[in-house]
Amino acid sequence: MNASINKVIIIGGGPVGLTLSIALSRYGIPSIVLEARDKATSPDESRAITWMPRGLELLEWLGIYHPFYKKGVLRTCHQFESRRGKLSWSFEGIASPYPFSLQLPQHDTEMILEEAARSTGYVEINRGHKVIDIGQTEHAITVKVQCHDRIYELESPWGGWM
Ligand SMILES: Cc1cc2nc3c(=O)[nH]c(=O)nc-3n(C[C@H](O)[C@H](O)[C@H](O)COP(=O)(O)OP(=O)(O)OC[C@H]3O[C@@H](n4cnc5c(N)ncnc54)[C@H](O)[C@@H]3O)c2cc1C
Repeated sequence: MNASINKVIIIGGGPVGLTLSIALSRYGIPSIVLEARDKATSPDESRAITWMPRGLELLEWLGIYHPFYKKGVLRTCHQFESRRGKLSWSFEGIASPYPFSLQLPQHDTEMILEEAARSTGYVEINRGHKVIDIGQTEHAITVKVQCHDRIYELESPWGGWM
């Protein structure tokens, strides 16, 4: 099946792809997120766990800071063990309305972002859809997608691999 769509194709529904889809929606731009995994990152496979001040400012701008604030843990200082002793990195005095970081498992971040993205009405999220090839014509990008034993192609004027 070949379909030509007028949506931004976002490859990857991790924190960055989902955030991008919400940002595009704020400009009235529809998108489709193609995510290889059937489910969000599992709670015990956490990598992206830290939202830094600029990321929090972005969440505020997108209007979705509150659910993160409700679930996350705030830290005004990061400490690292090193062979030379303990290193401390304080957020005190930085030029941001959010002088702290927010800790949240990647699973929770993706769940909040996915719900927010779907609620915009501009974002279609297709889980279990793995992009297996990507190409470009003069006016469009083309992607070949595998969903279980089905393979299909999409083309759109815009797209990005997250
Ligand atoms: C070992 C390690 C430790 C880290 N520790 C931390 C930490 O302590 N704190 C912190 O804040 N950050 C940490 N990070 C960084 C953090 O993981 C990344 O910044 C964050 O995950 C980036 O988000 P993303 O959405 O770009 O990528 P990802 O989270 O990797 O998401 C990409 C998504 O794209 C999907 N995808 C990939 N290929 C395809 C395809 N062909 N078709 C469809 N979908 C596809 C994947 O399934 C995935 O869901 C760590 C990273 C690593 C590797």
